[in-house]
Amino acid sequence: MSLKKMTRREALAVLGVASALPFVPGMSGRAVADIALGSKTVTTVSDGNLVLPLDFAFPDVPREDLIALLEAAGLGTDAVEPPCNVTVLKDGDRVVLFDVGSGPNFMPSAGKILDNIDAAGIAPEDVTDVVFTHAHPDHIWGLLDDFDEFIFPEANYFINQVEWDYWRADDTLAKMPEARKTFVVGAQNRLAALEDVISFFNYGDEVLPGIEAIDTAGHTPGHTSFAIHDGSDSVTVIGDAATSAVISFAHPEWPSGSDQDTEMGIATRTKLLDRLAQEQTRFIGFHLPEGGIGRVEKDGTAYRFVAA
Ligand SMILES: [Zn+2]
Repeated sequence: MSLKKMTRREALAVLGVASALPFVPGMSGRAVADIALGSKTVTTVSDGNLVLPLDFAFPDVPREDLIALLEAAGLGTDAVEPPCNVTVLKDGDRVVLFDVGSGPNFMPSAGKILDNIDAAGIAPEDVTDVVFTHAHPDHIWGLLDDFDEFIFPEANYFINQVEWDYWRADDTLAKMPEARKTFVVGAQNRLAALEDVISFFNYGDEVLPGIEAIDTAGHTPGHTSFAIHDGSDSVTVIGDAATSAVISFAHPEWPSGSDQDTEMGIATRTKLLDRLAQEQTRFIGFHLPEGGIGRVEKDGTAYRFVAA
């Protein structure tokens, strides 16, 4: 592989993450959470959690507003510590993973999926399909182990064509702000490994039977949510369209430092939350608490996440 894999130390240096910030095991909530969808089972498996300084997560929100909101929610105000939930769909003989987590080289508090997937009764070789929401480190770096072998060796892999083309483009590294250049190097490394086995989809496609790709671009150029359908019921995997149960729901209009296109991220988040609130269908957020499964309630111009 031509591109070097970033070490954990390099990742932390680039992110400006203070290594003194503690990781408290169990903080991120449940290791495994389950819901039924007809004959299917939808499970979330914890990949640990991230630790992101407020200035990195929400650099363009007035600090005092952020702190007031976090304090009112009883959360710490030095950093946000979003949990990471990988969704697993069991549908007959199929075991579908939505994203693969961070792997061993992103943050010491993340990359725990293999510790927890076992508790969900799944071995890595049982996974038949992997569908990516986007190519950020905490969603795709868990593709490979320390020997550059696939962690889920039997899986078929699927990604949005736009997302693939964006990260693979020659000028993406040069255009990326300094603090996120390692995201590009890491994505290019993982996508290169997938080159011979990847399948592509576009928004609106049925990626696998009953799994519909939904346009939630903005967080990244090809960011995709997935509606898992069962008759008239559905569960939507929303990836990083809303990354904080407190901030993204109380103030979907606040700019998120992790959205590559800030304005499109806000528009996408607001539209998605509005639709999910109207439909009252269940959804799963990669960084939402209690396994990430819940519903949303509308409250004036704001929304509220209600864990299942
Ligand atoms: Zn992301």
